[in-house]
Amino acid sequence: MSNIRARMAPSPTGEYHIGHIRTVLYNYAFCKKEKGKFIIRIEDTDQERYVEGAVERILDVILDYKLDWDEGPGKEGEYGPYIQSQRLDLYKKYAKELVEKGHAYYCFCTKERLDSMREEQQKKGLSKTMYDGHCRNLSKTDVEKSLINNISYVVRLKVPQNEKISFDDAVYGHLEFNSNEVDDSILLKSDGFPTYHLGVVIDDHLMRITHVMRGNDWLPSTPKHILLYKYFGWDLPVFVHLPNLKEKGENRKLSKRYGAVYAVDFLKEGYLVDALINFLMFLGWNPGTEKEIYTMEEFIRDFDIERIHKTDLVAFDREKLLWLNGYYIRQMKPENLYNELKLWSKKFNIDLHGNNFDDKYNVKVLGLLQERIKTLSEYVDLSRYFYKNPIIQKNLIDEFTKDTQRSQEILKGLNTIYNNVRKDNWNSENLEKLSHEYIEKNNYKTKEAFMTLRYVITGEKATPPIFDILSILGKEEVLVRLNLSINL
Ligand code: GLU
Repeated sequence: MSNIRARMAPSPTGEYHIGHIRTVLYNYAFCKKEKGKFIIRIEDTDQERYVEGAVERILDVILDYKLDWDEGPGKEGEYGPYIQSQRLDLYKKYAKELVEKGHAYYCFCTKERLDSMREEQQKKGLSKTMYDGHCRNLSKTDVEKSLINNISYVVRLKVPQNEKISFDDAVYGHLEFNSNEVDDSILLKSDGFPTYHLGVVIDDHLMRITHVMRGNDWLPSTPKHILLYKYFGWDLPVFVHLPNLKEKGENRKLSKRYGAVYAVDFLKEGYLVDALINFLMFLGWNPGTEKEIYTMEEFIRDFDIERIHKTDLVAFDREKLLWLNGYYIRQMKPENLYNELKLWSKKFNIDLHGNNFDDKYNVKVLGLLQERIKTLSEYVDLSRYFYKNPIIQKNLIDEFTKDTQRSQEILKGLNTIYNNVRKDNWNSENLEKLSHEYIEKNNYKTKEAFMTLRYVITGEKATPPIFDILSILGKEEVLVRLNLSINL
């Protein structure tokens, strides 16, 4: 066990995105590789944006992606509690300490004052609004008076003026910020809750976090954190900012317009966890070889912070994901894939056509379709006719013969032949052989005969080999369907 400790710090303000899982994955793999500890800490200090049930859903989806933590909710360790709303006294104590040291100050500005201040700044065309420092230099007596009178206050960070704030990021290298661009952000809110900035620094320190690995959207916040570390006199952790995700071919974040965005939705659509995880490994890292298929063990072995991409955004290639998922599906034994399918349909309440057939039958269907599906939901669409009589349109039966009489003859002929096949001879090779003999003898064209047959049995024009389908459906069912169409 090394002393390496990394963490993921979800805010329960909504559902977890697929990008969050990428970041969990990197943290997780890094800790496993370094034989360190991976911590989950819930940052639930924004009471206004708190979403009921989000904590549970976030933790569940992390586990659904086969990721796990060493310390955190449900796995208490030495440095808990791991839920910020249970640590409020700590933040108050540290905020007070900062005020006493002169690195933070009470601010009694009313909402109205702040609103008009912002409006004013916007009118002047400033790109971002910043606190104007109104309460920065209140006298001690003024502050005490306001406190005694119970005037509502926040505690703000006293950002020094005209200073360079710099730090080294493990991915982006040496970074420098002008302190004049850094806002006197709120550290402690009027409701007594810390803001993210205060909470994250205190907890990363107290929880002995050695590596802060997170999306690079947090880079602009980092100068504030650097100041806080300095004012508390604490050592900096290693900052590892990761590129965020964007739609391929676009310069914007993932968008629901292009498909799933939430981690759970990819599962619901029938992507396999192993494929998703393999895909996520490459969103910000690569091994520098041609190897694309990675197991978790291999990723843990090869993951290296040095090889994280030093770029702002990495492309989320949905087609590639689909391809990869198809690949994973094809590699599975039908029985294992069937188990996945059952778990999936149960978890997401998906109707596998009433499930009114036995497992053996279902595995056969799946075995036939496995080559053709790229997600589990595609299976539901493609397997429909194995479970329900297709809806046959009379005019479409003749599409391939262009002659009702001729279609009838073909179907009747096949019907007679199939009727005479013994059940123990009912297999695709035999059916194919007999059918070919029949159409040759009667001078039908292969295409017209078998397309007509395919249509009346499945209601589709494109399916796996029709004799495989007949063989799985079984003699009785095939005869029922043939007769229904003949009688149309
Ligand atoms: N609570 C922050 C979030 O929602 C954590 C950011 C960080 O990792 O520092 O992502």
